[in-house]
Order: sequence, then C-alpha cells, then structure tokens
Amino acid sequence: MRVLILGGGVIGTSIAYQLAVKGADAVVIERSAVACAASGKSGGFLALDWCDGTPLMHLARRSFALHAELADELGGDWGHRRMATYGGSVNRLSARTPRGPWPGWASPEVAISGQLGTTDTTAQVQPAAFTSGMMRAAQGRGAELRLDRATGLLRRGEDVVGVDLGGETLEGDAVVIAMGPWSVLAAQWLPLPPVFGLKGHSLVFETGATLPPEALFLEYAEPAGSMLSPEVFPRADGTTYVCGISSESPLPIDPALVIPDHGAIDRLKALCDRMSPVLAGSRVLASQACFRPVTQDGLPLIGAVPGARGAYVATGHGVWGILNAPATGEAMAELILDGAARTTDLSPFDPSRAAIARRRRG
Ligand SMILES: Cc1cc2nc3c(=O)[nH]c(=O)nc-3n(C[C@H](O)[C@H](O)[C@H](O)COP(=O)(O)OP(=O)(O)OC[C@H]3O[C@@H](n4cnc5c(N)ncnc54)[C@H](O)[C@@H]3O)c2cc1C
Repeated sequence: MRVLILGGGVIGTSIAYQLAVKGADAVVIERSAVACAASGKSGGFLALDWCDGTPLMHLARRSFALHAELADELGGDWGHRRMATYGGSVNRLSARTPRGPWPGWASPEVAISGQLGTTDTTAQVQPAAFTSGMMRAAQGRGAELRLDRATGLLRRGEDVVGVDLGGETLEGDAVVIAMGPWSVLAAQWLPLPPVFGLKGHSLVFETGATLPPEALFLEYAEPAGSMLSPEVFPRADGTTYVCGISSESPLPIDPALVIPDHGAIDRLKALCDRMSPVLAGSRVLASQACFRPVTQDGLPLIGAVPGARGAYVATGHGVWGILNAPATGEAMAELILDGAARTTDLSPFDPSRAAIARRRRG
C-alpha cells in the first residue's frame, strides 16, 4: 500500500516511520524542509501524566513510553533524556520579598514553588533532531521524502487517489493531511473542521554543561503589566531553550516566511537576562518563532476524513505535538493498514466530531 503524507513535521514523519515499520510504502511530501516549522522550533518537553483526566491521557501515556523505546531501539541521537521539572516565578525583589529555594544558575529573582515532575514522569527530546530522526528511520525502511508543495487532491468519485503538486500528480492508496497549522488549506479540499496557528517565540542559548537537566515552568509579570509564562529547557547537546511569548499574529501561507513579531525577541531576551546571569552571558544560537496547530475544541484531529475514502488527517496537536507524535504515528499506521487503531483509542479525536455534535444539538 502506498501512503502519501502531506507535511514533514513531527506528526508526518512519525506516521511515515510507523507505516514503514509495518511494511507500507510511505511518501512524505514536504513543502519546505523537514522540521522547518514548530516541530523544529518547539521545546521538546515530554510528560507522562500531565494530560491525565483529559481525552489526551492514553495518547500521551503511550507516547511517553514510545519516546523512550524509540530512543533505545533506534539509538536515537535526538537527546532523549529524563529530567526533573520545577514550577516557580520570577519576582521583582524587594526587601520584603520572601526568598524560597532557587536554582544556583538562576538569578535570586527566580523562586521555585514546587516540583512538577520527576525523572519518572518528565523527559525531553531535541525536537528538530527527533523529527529528522523519524524521517531518516522511515527512509531506512524504504520511505521516500519529496520536497514539493501539495496544492490539491486527486479524486475519483468519493475516493481520494492522490495529490496534486502544482501541476504534476502523484497517485497513492491513501493520503494523510499532516501540515500542522497549514492543514487549514486542506479545508478547501475536504470537509475538515478549522485548524488555527498560535504563534510562539523562543531563544536557544549555547550554555554548555552549566545548567543541570531540570526543566522550569515560571510565571512573570512584566513591568508593562502582561503575564508571561517562560519555560526553560536545558538540553543534552549543551544548549538551553527558552520560550514564553505568544501572539495571535496571522499565519503566512508559506512556512518559510514565519518570522518573530516586532519586539518579541527583545522582550524574551530581557526576561532571560533577568532570569539568569548564565543566560545573559551565553551566545544566542537561535531567535525564532513558530505556530502550534490548534483546533476549536483544543483536541487534535486524528482519523479518517468522513465522505472521502482514502483521506486521513492528523493535526491540531497544540502544545503537545512532540510528546504525542509517536502514538499518533502508531495508531494512524494501524488505522490505515489494518482498518482500526488498536494501541490508542482515537474516538475522542474523530475529525467528524464537530459535525456529529451539531447534528445532535439540532
Ligand atoms: C513555542 C512552542 C513550544 C512548544 N513546545 C512543545 C513542547 O515542549 N512539547 C510538545 O510536545 N510540543 C510542543 N509544542 C507543540 C509542537 O511543536 C507542535 O504541536 C508540533 O510541532 C506540530 O507538529 P506538526 O507536524 O503537526 O506541524 P508542523 O511542525 O507545523 O509541520 C507541518 C509541516 O507541513 C509543511 N507544509 C505546509 N504546507 C504544506 C504543503 N502545502 N505541502 C507540503 N507540506 C506542507 C510545513 O512546511 C511543515 O514542515 C510547542 C509549540 C510551540 C509553538
């Protein structure tokens, strides 16, 4: 069976890998470069149980376990490691500010209020390396990567039988939409609920081995009044990733044209300088922005597209796309090749759920 996957982010490459493991011919069609968007610019933080009590629980727990297995089995060079995680705040110090414990590498303004995860429950990967690693592992099992822009679908009656690549067509037995926030374009081709892009900014510092493998989730009230939630992830490769400024700027049609909002990087850098003399003194390796794909009800769309045989979608993973990619890939490969997902129940993510809810209401 030949499966065409539109989008070379973490979701598309994870699906390609799991399809290739099961013996299918997977072709990833990527407009720009593998991991060029959120999948290459995100935090890469993983949590076992932070989605417990939500419809994402089983997908997240299965994915957390698969991340560890994939790193072992494939000898992954994407920096998978367990880490402890702490929560706290960045406070403007005054004589009366109570001083809690704080990490030695941070400034005294950073106060830890509690532990959010242990090395049993939280971990990380370097997301660009993980995404490329999935693509390479898929290619090692016969998958193909094609750098091309999907511009439409090839249909025969109700069946989707291929992809239009701006003039040229490519035939396949199934097509998977995994274009992250750009999956919104596919709503012109298929009856899909809307997908939006929520922009986030980040900095990557060359910190060497100064910072311990501990993730920090902080709160900070800017002097101008806005609340920021900086996240700090020291990585196994001697870099430290910090994100914390989001915006609702519009999504450019071309993924290569995503740039930071005016002033956002300066605000984030000022916050990093305030949080730590180590960050203040380290070389900045990347100043970047990307869009996480989100849906109206906050849950991803994963499954067969109604009324279009052979068409599937896997997108809208929001803040947990790197975490939830492995089990999404596994369940999608089962659904496409065996007719049903066995390892993870995909029913909460059914792409037709909004239409079903509308029919029930009325
Ligand atoms: C600041 C930030 C921090 C984050 N931190 C974390 C974290 O710590 N942990 C976590 O689990 N998640 C995190 N996320 C979320 C995670 O990054 C995303 O959910 C995930 O990367 C989405 O992957 P994707 O493959 O769906 O989309 P994308 O990575 O956006 O990939 C979509 C791909 O489709 C391609 N494409 C677009 N149009 C076309 C076309 N017409 N034809 C062919 N290809 C096309 C694009 O070029 C792109 O490569 C974070 C997100 C942000 C923004």
